[in-house]
Amino acid sequence: MKKAEQLYEGKAKKVFATDDPNLCIVSYKDDATAFNGLKKGTIEGKGIVNNKMSNYLMQMLERSGIPTHFAQELSDRETLVKKVHIVPLEVIIRNVAAGSFSKRLGIEEGTPLKCKVLEFSYKDDELGDPMVNDYHILAAGYATKQEVETITDYAFRIDDLLIDFFKNIGVDLIDFKLEFGKTADGTIILADEISPDTCRFWDAKTHEKLDKDRFRRDMGNVEGAYAEMMKRVFQG
Ligand code: ADP
Ligand code: UDP
Repeated sequence: MKKAEQLYEGKAKKVFATDDPNLCIVSYKDDATAFNGLKKGTIEGKGIVNNKMSNYLMQMLERSGIPTHFAQELSDRETLVKKVHIVPLEVIIRNVAAGSFSKRLGIEEGTPLKCKVLEFSYKDDELGDPMVNDYHILAAGYATKQEVETITDYAFRIDDLLIDFFKNIGVDLIDFKLEFGKTADGTIILADEISPDTCRFWDAKTHEKLDKDRFRRDMGNVEGAYAEMMKRVFQG
């Protein structure tokens, strides 16, 4: 597969065209940002961890019937994926109170939730990714009713599968963000990444944070947390 022109450079990844119009190459960087790009830094080796972990998890989800963009891992940092039109929504699932949920509602971080929470944000950096509900999504035309239903169903199934997987390696899945895309024939598939950049992972025993919150909150040992998650995913 030949790597062609760069289509996009984001905060954490670059996307390249290939000689097949239905495929693109995602290249993972070590760049880290937080607070809508206000905080910038580097997390050494992050690109490798996120690429490999995301590919591993997407292949696991595929085996459980969730369609994903994964096609082939090309190198430590590069993966061939099905090219999609990204549905402009960040799909967040929460199992335990944390982050903006805790702040907004005054519910202490770590409080178990009485049921899973699904939130949508409209993916727009300039607007600061505002939270939207189903009505906003239909009214603005970000997705159709059918697409919202499909995305919701996949997101909750992915949560069940990921909770089980991480429990087995001693990690509580607190919350995470997903992105979905549409292939040329309109099929909705899981896209983007699943990694310590996009999930909150807490050690099940010590509650130590093993994710990007260590960078967001200047907690130190950021690289160590990414390396620990990589080790647990691949070696148990
Ligand atoms: P951001 O755009 O938020 O800075 P990244 O640096 O992660 O994010 O850039 C990756 C971009 O690629 C994101 O905009 C994401 O929506 C998009 N993307 C992810 N998977 C695919 C795919 N399979 N096809 C096309 N675009 C994708
Ligand atoms: N998240 C993400 N990208 C975003 C916003 C959130 O990957 O642009 C993830 C984040 O890592 C966490 C979950 O979504 O696992 C919920 O994030 P929250 O709304 O609490 O926002 P934050 O506290 O990160 O501002």
